[in-house]
Amino acid sequence: MSSKGDNVAVCNMKLERLLSMKGGKGQDSYANNSQAQAMHARSMLHLLEETLDNVHLNSSASPPPFTAVDLGCSSGANTVHIIDFIVKHISKRFDVAGIDPPEFTAFFSDLPSNDFNTLFQLLPPLVSNSCMEECLAADGNCSYFVAGVPGSFYRRLFPARTIDFFHSAFSLHWLSQVPESVTDRRSAAYNRGRVFIHGAGEKTATAYKRQFQADLAEFLRARAAEVKRGGAMFLVCLGRTSVDPTDQGGAGLLFGTHFQDAWDDLVREGLVAAEKRDGFNIPVYAPSLQDFKEVVEANGSFAIEKLVVYKGGSPLVVSEPDDASEVGRAFASSCRSVAGVLVEAHIGEELSNELFSRVERRATSHAKDVLVNLQFFHIVASLSFT
Ligand code: SAH
Repeated sequence: MSSKGDNVAVCNMKLERLLSMKGGKGQDSYANNSQAQAMHARSMLHLLEETLDNVHLNSSASPPPFTAVDLGCSSGANTVHIIDFIVKHISKRFDVAGIDPPEFTAFFSDLPSNDFNTLFQLLPPLVSNSCMEECLAADGNCSYFVAGVPGSFYRRLFPARTIDFFHSAFSLHWLSQVPESVTDRRSAAYNRGRVFIHGAGEKTATAYKRQFQADLAEFLRARAAEVKRGGAMFLVCLGRTSVDPTDQGGAGLLFGTHFQDAWDDLVREGLVAAEKRDGFNIPVYAPSLQDFKEVVEANGSFAIEKLVVYKGGSPLVVSEPDDASEVGRAFASSCRSVAGVLVEAHIGEELSNELFSRVERRATSHAKDVLVNLQFFHIVASLSFT
């Protein structure tokens, strides 16, 4: 990995080859920094249940497997818990309906750089030579067949009409690329001096919003081809409550304040050129409900069963909230677990260490504010396909 920083360029085209949450199980890994997402997911289980209750159950004599997909599964335990929940809930519905349950298949899907090895090691063992009902009954065993599917969810990933249920949590706010105009010095949308949409100019904001809506449109087009009739989707992504896209709420605080200031520190200290900083942008957009709704309606393939903004809470897990240094560390780890791979690709590992140590220092000195104000809202969409 280069430490210089100015000879490592991240081309937009490569984002989907490059992007991943930090793999492994270390301090800054996603596996170790996703307990808050787990809590937020737990608080939404009743909404997931409602969506699962809309899925059509196939009662034919030898039905195909019930197929569930988690899109943007990453490398932590959350995806395993969610798939387990989905399989259990659907098999209970078969039970209640007095229909023999089919076999289950679960696809874990993410970009190719995702640490699928760490994820696969988290899976419970599949008990072979026993029937599905025994598996379902035996806790701690895997009651479904598993496959990993590498690829961008902004394109087709599965054959037509093969999927009963799509789940995606905390992933759709990731754009397929930083909008080109945002890093083009000749463009009015050039995000001079900034590394995120939060607090940016109007033209930059419009470019981000357009990218989000174009990406979501592609996502829906692909899923509409893949989902079976009677199937459904449960989608959760970062959202915002403000109508103004340059106020990104929790995401804005995570990437637009101490993270931004730390980049500015590196520039001021002569470690990174201003243009190098400006060439880096976080490809995340927290949509408003309206931004999201417009795209689903324009696509027209899915019925909106529910579309709400839901308060998730803080992404930080701290045991001693009064300990400013723990809060600072948690903030920096949280930030690095999701953005670290991109930062390292842009400025190398050594400068990345410098950057995140400044993020930590700055967050430590604003610990109270970070604890109180770093709150995430999510867009939750329950969609069905008839
Ligand atoms: N769903 C998990 C992980 C969320 S982290 C949980 O609930 O904890 C967000 C994930 O989205 C990352 O693993 C990232 O690689 C993935 N992601 C981002 N853009 C993607 C894309 N275009 N296609 C597939 N996965 C993507």
